Amino acid sequence: MERIKQGHAVSKGIGIGRAFVYTRYTPEKKVVYIDEKDVETTFARYHSILQQAHQEIDSIRESLEKKGDDKAKIFQAHLDILHDIALEEMIEQYIKQERFSIAYAVHEAFDMFIEIISQVEDDLIKERVADLKDVKNRVLRIEEGLPETNLSRLSEPSVIIADDLYPSDTATLDRNYVEALITEIGGVTSHTAIIAKSYEIPAILGIEGVMKKVKHGTPVIADAIKGELIIDPDEKLIDEYQIKRKEYKAKQALLITYLPLKPITKDNIKVEVTLNIGSASDEELSYVPYVDGVGLFRSEFLYMENDHLPTEDEQYQVYAKALKAFGEKPVILRTLDIGGDKELSYLALPKEDNPFLGCRAIRLCFEHPDILQTQLRAALRASVNGNLWLMFPMVGSIDDIEKIHDAVSQAKVSLDSEKIPYSTDVKVGVMIEIPSLILIADHVAKMVDFASIGTNDLCQYLTAVDRLNPLVSSYYQSYSPAMFRIIKMAIDAFNKEHKPISVCGELGGDPIAAPILLGLGMRKISMAKSSVAKIKKIITSHDMVKFSQAAHHILNLTKEKDVIEYVQSVLKLED
Ligand code: PEP
Ligand code: MG
Repeated sequence: MERIKQGHAVSKGIGIGRAFVYTRYTPEKKVVYIDEKDVETTFARYHSILQQAHQEIDSIRESLEKKGDDKAKIFQAHLDILHDIALEEMIEQYIKQERFSIAYAVHEAFDMFIEIISQVEDDLIKERVADLKDVKNRVLRIEEGLPETNLSRLSEPSVIIADDLYPSDTATLDRNYVEALITEIGGVTSHTAIIAKSYEIPAILGIEGVMKKVKHGTPVIADAIKGELIIDPDEKLIDEYQIKRKEYKAKQALLITYLPLKPITKDNIKVEVTLNIGSASDEELSYVPYVDGVGLFRSEFLYMENDHLPTEDEQYQVYAKALKAFGEKPVILRTLDIGGDKELSYLALPKEDNPFLGCRAIRLCFEHPDILQTQLRAALRASVNGNLWLMFPMVGSIDDIEKIHDAVSQAKVSLDSEKIPYSTDVKVGVMIEIPSLILIADHVAKMVDFASIGTNDLCQYLTAVDRLNPLVSSYYQSYSPAMFRIIKMAIDAFNKEHKPISVCGELGGDPIAAPILLGLGMRKISMAKSSVAKIKKIITSHDMVKFSQAAHHILNLTKEKDVIEYVQSVLKLED
């Protein structure tokens, strides 16, 4: 038995199961020829590999289709690629005439198609590259005799151990059997953390070297309350943890009683509690009755979970569904926030040494005006269904704000010219993530309708710490007095202009930070589903005066550690 106490427990809970060590297969291209006498048997073997690939793809397609999941279509496209006549003929010719090994023939044939398609002007065709690569890797993996490691089809309660998880992995995650997620990369604010919280799966992220330490199939316990991974526990410990897990779940069930309460403090100050969502799934929308709207709709998930740039119509459907569900309550839709840690398999991004400081989010959209215009048109069209607030990420200057207003006007003009209706009440706001924007917040507040503070990135840029790098995670101090001082400047500037300001980073749903933010004058905080009940409990059981006193006290403290201790002691927060 071994205990690893490292990383961050980003989504609380306890998971018990067998380790599912997940490695994404990456093939190596080698030039290998076969003997003339082996040609026929090699070709026959190639056909049996094709058959196995067909079975694998078809069974994923079938299980997604049964769940009514649209992603079934992706796997239908994979079957079409697998049986593409031109590809098959080329591979046959490579094996029979050139005497290439199966792997070399598959590499050469697919690579040629990938190259041709990459050069086509049409974006929709270009996007097929990701599918071609996927099918090629599947065929090569089968050829190497390696098993399918697919998170969509687990057969027993499993704790997923991975280097990192991509949205394509989390999108197809078999949630019936996933007990916990453990990764080497990623911290409190990574996309895996966001997904884990929204699915309420216990997760510990940022355990360096964990892939080497845990063998596939070993029993493990993920204690994402204490932040401990226990490898190969004995029966007695497993029994103890079964009880702990039950108790934890019972405690969570009790918290649920706070869910329907109005977020009003004991001294009668009303606060808005809103939701962070990544899709318009029924699961996300089930919280409509308990919240005051959506404080952050991370639209990039729609892009990341797809194999192509979502069309205007595809986006329209999703935004309209969310807006309809929330009715008069505002839905803050954030425009595409790609780059940094978030990639799109079908969109080539420039290679940068410091991607978090580079061409990400709104900067990337300025570089790709077509992508931005498609999204703005889709959102504006959907606006007639509800109360849309458009928000732009990674804004750093007044120049950015001017460009944003131009882009929104352009989308409106194009809709006008086609006589397509949209709401005239759509609000335009910015995310405050770059400290430079706070230093000129008085001007910013005059130029936009609202702002929301992205504390995940704000902390990254304020403290100069890569938010995903486990080596420097102790420097990422989001409770530091410096953070609260700078946040206060933004709150004051927006309150002075009577413009709404909120927090939608992780601090908004954090039991230590949320009371301080409220005490500093914030009246709207946004969070993942899993935090709503807990935060409502804190709000409804305290006076705002107490939050305010605590907030003003911590502004004069010097260290993060002191802030945590102080808030815990005065507000008597439970775990
Ligand atoms: C943030 O930076 O706080 C934020 C909410 O955006 P994301 O975590 O998606 O970068
Ligand atoms: Mg951000």
